[in-house]
Amino acid sequence: MKIAVLKEEAAETRCAAIPETVKKFVALGAEVAVEAGAGQGAAISDADFETAGATVASRADVLRGAGLILCINGPDPGTLGGADAGALLVGALDPMRRRDAIDAYAAAGVDALAMEWMPRITRAQSMDILSSQSNLAGYKAVIEAAATFGRAFPMMMTAAGTISPAKVFVMGVGVAGLQAIATARRLGAQVSATDVRSATKEQIQSLGAKPIFVENVVGIEGEGSGGYATEMSPEYQKAQAELVSGHIAKQDIVITTALIPGRPAPRLISDAQLATMRPGSVVVDLAAEAGGNVEGTVSGANVESHGVTIIGASNLARSLAADSSALFARNLYNFLSAFWDKEQARPVLPDDDEIVKAIRLTQGGKVVNERLTAA
Ligand code: NAD
Repeated sequence: MKIAVLKEEAAETRCAAIPETVKKFVALGAEVAVEAGAGQGAAISDADFETAGATVASRADVLRGAGLILCINGPDPGTLGGADAGALLVGALDPMRRRDAIDAYAAAGVDALAMEWMPRITRAQSMDILSSQSNLAGYKAVIEAAATFGRAFPMMMTAAGTISPAKVFVMGVGVAGLQAIATARRLGAQVSATDVRSATKEQIQSLGAKPIFVENVVGIEGEGSGGYATEMSPEYQKAQAELVSGHIAKQDIVITTALIPGRPAPRLISDAQLATMRPGSVVVDLAAEAGGNVEGTVSGANVESHGVTIIGASNLARSLAADSSALFARNLYNFLSAFWDKEQARPVLPDDDEIVKAIRLTQGGKVVNERLTAA
């Protein structure tokens, strides 16, 4: 089995393999070919990949005879010529927004697997790219906020007087939110947090932060389907808006991470609420790409509104390319090695496996995933 590792488009800094995973694939009996310059954005040189046991060549050369193609983002289908018929293409393929590309992968005879559709089951935790990348984004959101904020985070008692600790409010306590809470606490901030899932209350407290919850209207009890949130009732939304209005005016930093799978991000902060914050405050909207939790967010840009900077964070994991590549590459290795057949020296993906059913998009020239065929 030949594995091709693609170099990403210019805006992408991450790489789908690192020397460690190359070595592990070689140990499984695979041959690994890395496209020249693929690791550049993540500070991995071609020589590092060669030392780990890979060959380095042009895209056409790495694809020739490849049975497995690893990528971060789905490549242009027109550039995949030369791979074996039925080659597996594995990465974050963004199936809903790139439907034409998925159709083209099918037509090209490539079997595409979308890692972001990995089911949230215990067995798949180590293969979950959404978690590994969100965790880093949650950390970086706090670092970005601290870099923009004109005050310090920790309390400091100095001869020239006392600096009070920054007040940080995290809205949405999934993987990114939990890491944001932990990071802000480490920097010495006073942290509070909210979510619609009641199960997060204890997690917030265990990180030393204060839970701010709507108490008079029922939220989501327990973990819900796969641990995800759903859209809340108008009554809940009204109660949440009132709660936020009272709290937000006293905050220096707000980090929003709220997402609802398959829907636009819920609006959590209105322009009128922003206007109640102190000038110089900073809001980081990690949901910017999904439409934003904050009124006025612009994805990929910083905007100022009522003296408050809104950071429309997009793909913050890219700015930590060495770590995000390492975690992404291990997610890919963990998935592929779990299905590795030693005798055939390649991954074998059973049709009835829960993981395979969830992430397989195309097979035998057709789009086969129910989420796509039903759309
Ligand atoms: P997410 O990115 O889908 O959403 C972020 C957070 O926003 C969630 O906590 C969600 O409840 C919250 N949210 C949604 N609407 C909101 C609103 N109106 N107001 C406030 N908050 C709102 O979530 P995620 O980071 O993917 O994690 C969701 C859950 O899945 C967590 O419990 C996590 O531990 C769990 N999880 C499980 C696995 C696994 O078992 N393999 C893997 C990853 C995550």
